Amino acid sequence: MQKFIFVTGGVVSSVGKGICVASVGRMLKNRGFSVSLMKLDPYLNVDPGTMSPYQHGEVYVTDDGAETDLDLGHYERFTETRLTGLSSLTAGQIYKKVIDKERKGDYLGRTIQVVPHVTNEIKERVIQVANESNSDIVVVEVGGTVGDIEGLPFLESIRQIPYLVGKNNCYFIHVTYLPFINTTGELKTKPTQHSVRELRSIGIQPDSIICRSEFEVSEKIKEKISMFCDVPLEAVSSLPTLDSVYEVPIRLEEENLGTLISTNLDLKTKKSNLNNWTKVISKVNLSSKSVKIAIVGKYVELQDSYLSVKESLIHAGMFNQTEIQIEWINSEEIKSTNVETMFEGINGIIVPGGFDKRGTQGMIEACKYARENNIPYFGLCLGMQIMVIEAARNLLGYPESNSTEFDESTPYPVIDLMPEQLKSLHKGGSMRLGLYDCNILDGTKTKEIYKSNLISERHRHRYEVNNKFVNEFKKLGLVTSGTNPDSDLVEIMEYKDHKFMIGVQFHPEFLSTPLNPHPLFVEFVGTSMKDNHSELNSNIVKNSKILD
Ligand code: GLN
Repeated sequence: MQKFIFVTGGVVSSVGKGICVASVGRMLKNRGFSVSLMKLDPYLNVDPGTMSPYQHGEVYVTDDGAETDLDLGHYERFTETRLTGLSSLTAGQIYKKVIDKERKGDYLGRTIQVVPHVTNEIKERVIQVANESNSDIVVVEVGGTVGDIEGLPFLESIRQIPYLVGKNNCYFIHVTYLPFINTTGELKTKPTQHSVRELRSIGIQPDSIICRSEFEVSEKIKEKISMFCDVPLEAVSSLPTLDSVYEVPIRLEEENLGTLISTNLDLKTKKSNLNNWTKVISKVNLSSKSVKIAIVGKYVELQDSYLSVKESLIHAGMFNQTEIQIEWINSEEIKSTNVETMFEGINGIIVPGGFDKRGTQGMIEACKYARENNIPYFGLCLGMQIMVIEAARNLLGYPESNSTEFDESTPYPVIDLMPEQLKSLHKGGSMRLGLYDCNILDGTKTKEIYKSNLISERHRHRYEVNNKFVNEFKKLGLVTSGTNPDSDLVEIMEYKDHKFMIGVQFHPEFLSTPLNPHPLFVEFVGTSMKDNHSELNSNIVKNSKILD
């Protein structure tokens, strides 16, 4: 019989509910169970694909090409599980489905209501994830906080699920926040009491409460919460803000949550073994080394927009036993006149994914600076396209070259839509999404790094390198080291004679985990650590306009 864990949030959002869910997943995996995880998002968008990064942060892409909530990234990174779009459910998807069914006449003239029609669809989806994943345990996170109007149908659905699958097979965790009042120097429990009362008024009694706070939660406060919220004392966990999110499973294990869940769900518990995890994540603490990596984008004030990139760097830092210091650089501020000062002391540069023209000129300056000074450069999707545009402008001598995304009438469209895409130009229909294969060319740096001739990576883009120009680039030493076997589309480009200057059309950051850091990130960080920018081993890379 499959087991279900439901996680709700109280008091405020953004206190790490997703990390708690991912950590619960890790704790269960460490006991030898298979887990699947899912997020129920109460907003009315169908998916976050069309939402602004200002609103939503990173759009996380799964193997099957679904554009999902960034919490799925935490789930996959912590549990080494490959999820599908089924794991990211929004109210928009549910209402759309219900209304489509109504239009088709599926409800045979009945009045359509939130309960039972909307709630039934939500329950069905949770059961579908359980069935299709065939995992021992499904962990379900409800987005937002208890008390949000739009969250009600979701809470009502998870209240009903125990009647479907058996009460003993369900466990409810409430993640709450204890504010610290400076003047009296104490953590306050009242907002938690209110949010649990609200939850109980809906009919959900939490089995366990995770208390997020800036400081350790004392036994006395735990006792108070236990009493007022009707939760056993041992089921109140203290989770102060830790140095790294990857310490959370270790911390919750120390608070005995894993054992508690296992006992309550009657899991035939194998002993928990967190050794491997602990060993990997503590590596970085032992290190005295550090490396400075610049992430150059236009949303740098919103670091959640590049969450997986940041995490992949941290994984590579763990592997290389070095602390990663990230410098967030706003590409709109980079000019040819200040680029040197802006990148002073930087050991490696990443230009991550992005859409639209704003900020691209600064990215091109950053890229030129990295190429000319032999500073490790890693281009992710847009960052790869920038590398190609920079080469066309400054090495091929086509100053007006561009991507047609930024200049439709450029005479040198080095990045362009492919003819078959032109047929479905409306946004949303023409994206290349999800996992695609890539053949890797022998004799390239990329091959040395991947140690394989065939890889698969996740994509989310619309434009492609224009194959008409690849031979010209090759003569410059900018070679195509990866191509899609079916379409011949360019997947990876690298400068042969640069320390590390690799651009990829996909998003390797979606497949990096602490236990399996992505090889490209590992090599990029490793090369950046060498911090030896003086020796330039190629005239091809250094001299501009060699092919007049
Ligand atoms: N805007 C570019 C494209 O659509 C790059 C997309 C990205 O970086 N994810 O091709």
